[in-house]
Amino acid sequence: MSGALNGRVIAITGATGGIGRALAMAAAREGAEVVLLGRNLQRLQAVHGEIEQIAPGVALMAQLDLEKSLASDYDRIADAVLNQYGKLDGLVHCAGMLGTLTPIDQYDVPTWCRVMQVNVTAAFALTQVLLPALRKSPDASIIFTSSSVGRRGRAYWGAYAVSKFAVEGMAQVIAAELAGTSSIRVNTLNPGRARTAMRRQAYPSENLESLPLPETLVEPYLRLLGPAGAGITGQALDCQ
Ligand code: NDP
Repeated sequence: MSGALNGRVIAITGATGGIGRALAMAAAREGAEVVLLGRNLQRLQAVHGEIEQIAPGVALMAQLDLEKSLASDYDRIADAVLNQYGKLDGLVHCAGMLGTLTPIDQYDVPTWCRVMQVNVTAAFALTQVLLPALRKSPDASIIFTSSSVGRRGRAYWGAYAVSKFAVEGMAQVIAAELAGTSSIRVNTLNPGRARTAMRRQAYPSENLESLPLPETLVEPYLRLLGPAGAGITGQALDCQ
């Protein structure tokens, strides 16, 4: 524990599973106050309880379903962050939906739309609504979680790959817009292979034990969120 995130408030989507959960716990250990965003209250409570064990009182739960929530739900989160903390120092988009691995000519259109909603549109909407709180931080960092298939297309990865390309583009656009007008930095991180539920869904026959635990991949996120990330913006970076 270095205390590198002391005094920082960090909001994390997908905090109920895999990489998002590991990051939330690591950020709390590093001294941050963490806003846990997730759709499932029981899973939120489970992560909240785990964080209470290591850093009592630093975690706030915020229920948000990125597929189904309305504008008013996003406003409620933004109001809660401003009322509770008066600022936001970090926003990390870890939530993601895989969809199906299917050739384009057979890809189910409603599934395509759901993946785009969760991975792209919801990340845009949440970023937009939290920008006023991020602007109140002297050193804010936004991180979008990408994927290797969002940097080079791969057969059958359909909506997921296209959504990650969109995330890369969105990060570049927001980074360029904010560069001249604020100190907010915006980057993407590709975690690489990780031992999570999404990886199991993508590769059901793979031996999950052979993959890195999410806990071993969070260091680059912590670096970008803390003082070491100062000045880094508009970059597409890798955890492995
Ligand atoms: P997990 O499946 O472990 O976690 C995904 C998270 O996203 C869960 O917390 C899940 O919530 C949340 N989520 C999914 N849909 C919604 C929704 N509609 N509303 C709110 N939250 C939602 O996956 P990973 O930890 O592996 O994935 C984290 C990120 O890393 C993703 O963006 C993924 O694309 C990316 N990634 C992962 C790789 C890997 O090998 N694992 C490789 C490259 C990129 P719930 O708990 O309710 O299901």
